[in-house]
Amino acid sequence: MRRLSIGLAAALMVTVVAGAGPLQAKAAKEAKLTEKQLEEARTFMVNNAIFTLFHEAGHMLISEFGLPVLGREEDAVDALSSILLLEADVEELDVAMQDAADGWFLSDEAREEDLNETDFLDTHGLDRQRAYAIVCMMVGADAKYFENFADSLDFPRERREECEGEYQHAKDSWFSLLAQHQAEEGKGKPLNVSYEPADNPDVQIFADMLKEASVLELVSEGIGTSYKFDDGIKLTAKSCGVVNAFWNPQTREITYCYELAVQHLMLIDGYFKREKVQN
Ligand SMILES: [Zn+2]
Repeated sequence: MRRLSIGLAAALMVTVVAGAGPLQAKAAKEAKLTEKQLEEARTFMVNNAIFTLFHEAGHMLISEFGLPVLGREEDAVDALSSILLLEADVEELDVAMQDAADGWFLSDEAREEDLNETDFLDTHGLDRQRAYAIVCMMVGADAKYFENFADSLDFPRERREECEGEYQHAKDSWFSLLAQHQAEEGKGKPLNVSYEPADNPDVQIFADMLKEASVLELVSEGIGTSYKFDDGIKLTAKSCGVVNAFWNPQTREITYCYELAVQHLMLIDGYFKREKVQN
């Protein structure tokens, strides 16, 4: 794994420890970033963790309730995480959707090798396809609200119109499948949330940021308590040694690897640097 820019890591560390203040300003200067960029980097990392966790929760719903999947499961759960976040109708989660789309665009731009057969064989769509699929869900849910974002990507008008129908169809399909598993108001139980210590002090700071942002609790409250799950499901954030997040149907556990948070910070750091070179 490539190392995160020392500047950004150190600056974020000071941001968390000291909060907004003179130390933060100094750290931002040393990292050659503005204070606004530092805050953006933190939000971008947290928001991508939220989208990823909702995606994994989609696999969990399919597996726990034996839901049918017509088509590729990876595409289906990307659509579900988008629908759940968009239907929550919370401004912060709308921003999370934009950051998730940007995350896949940046991941596509950061690719160092040309696409090869393995990419086409993968269970997931290509990064840029996943990004556009998320944008399609966003404009499908509310074309007016996300107009500026779609414009900034030159997302075609004709496609936006199609997305409206696609979003409605995906939403109706998911909600009709999930309806019978919905918990009665106030009767759903939270899932078992745990943030394990990172295996490296440099990464612990990002683990703390995720904990502070309550990313696992968001899944527990947003999905766990909404459906009739059997007891024992775990949501765990930890160091895994790989850049990944996954649902394990045997152990009934969603794992978010801190390595993924580091990867998202590297992507946004790279973006800031390229932006600076252009300006
Ligand atoms: Zn997946």
